[in-house]
Amino acid sequence: MKTKRLYYTDSNLLSFNSRIAAVSQDEDKFVTVLEKTAFYPTSGGQQHDIGILQNVPVIDVIDGDEIKHITESEVGKVGEIVSGRIDYERRHRNKQQHSAQHILSQSFHRLYNFVTMSVHLGESYGNIELDVKELSEIQIQKAEFLSNRVISENRLVQAILIHSDNIGLYNLRKLPKREGEIRLIQIDDFECTACGGTHVNFTSEIQMLKIISTEKIRGRVAVNFLCGQNAVDDYITRFKVTNSIAKKLTCSVNDLELHFDKLVETNKSLKRYLSQLQKELVPQIVQSLITSVEDINNTNVCLQKKVVLIKKISINFHWNLQKNVTEYQFSCIMIKSLYVVPSQSSKAPERLLKNYPL
Ligand SMILES: [Zn+2]
Repeated sequence: MKTKRLYYTDSNLLSFNSRIAAVSQDEDKFVTVLEKTAFYPTSGGQQHDIGILQNVPVIDVIDGDEIKHITESEVGKVGEIVSGRIDYERRHRNKQQHSAQHILSQSFHRLYNFVTMSVHLGESYGNIELDVKELSEIQIQKAEFLSNRVISENRLVQAILIHSDNIGLYNLRKLPKREGEIRLIQIDDFECTACGGTHVNFTSEIQMLKIISTEKIRGRVAVNFLCGQNAVDDYITRFKVTNSIAKKLTCSVNDLELHFDKLVETNKSLKRYLSQLQKELVPQIVQSLITSVEDINNTNVCLQKKVVLIKKISINFHWNLQKNVTEYQFSCIMIKSLYVVPSQSSKAPERLLKNYPL
């Protein structure tokens, strides 16, 4: 029996009652199939809803003719009527992301005839994969601008159920492969495409859209974007961080980049200065150590061999240095080896350690 999808005609429906059609167990998880449900199953790039069924948390919703609600304890028996409630926060963000994705895909399509090949709407950001190898900064800016314009125009978003025979009556961005009943999401006269997802009622509910990055996937360009509450959350975080740094640097947020560049320059010159100091200082430390060892270990052959070794290495100091090991660290390694593997007959290394604690 096919589960009736209540979200098809009402994406705002958050609570409902339904009779249990089937129950089963999959290892330690319980699977409940209802006659009808408002829970959206993971599909079409959109994540599933969460919520509760008869006070039992729904942790996953699996798509199919029969939509499966996954829980960690039993919801009820077959034939019983149970109540369901969708988690508003997650549904809200999913709706914002999905409608924003349609608008962004249509913007790239209208401006440059780029086709969206795949969609992924994650928890914190969305992603569309375009059938292009490269995307310029201007193209990104223009698509983002057009999307935000449509969002701010508060256009009507409607779900329409039609038969595939009537598909020619609609100006679709992409033709659906399936036949029979088809659900279209129409955003005023801007965008229309077949889709089974949950959507906002008006575009202004999306609040804003920001393209945050692009990446290469399978030789194509994937565009990552933030919108709605996710974008607001991101702004709050960025505001907090930039404000805190600006306070520490006693400058305005607008001057942060300038101050940061100056700090990087200062850091570079300090590193150069420190490196020079180490070059001058380390050979002196090593020489002082060698002298000290020679003074107290004239008869210790084993130790003297090591002293000779250190002398040789200190002479060839520069090309013996390993990557990411400073001269000082390198010197410490050599001095430690002198201490750690001393001649058994000598007590000198212990005295050495007292003089040069490392
Ligand atoms: Zn869609």
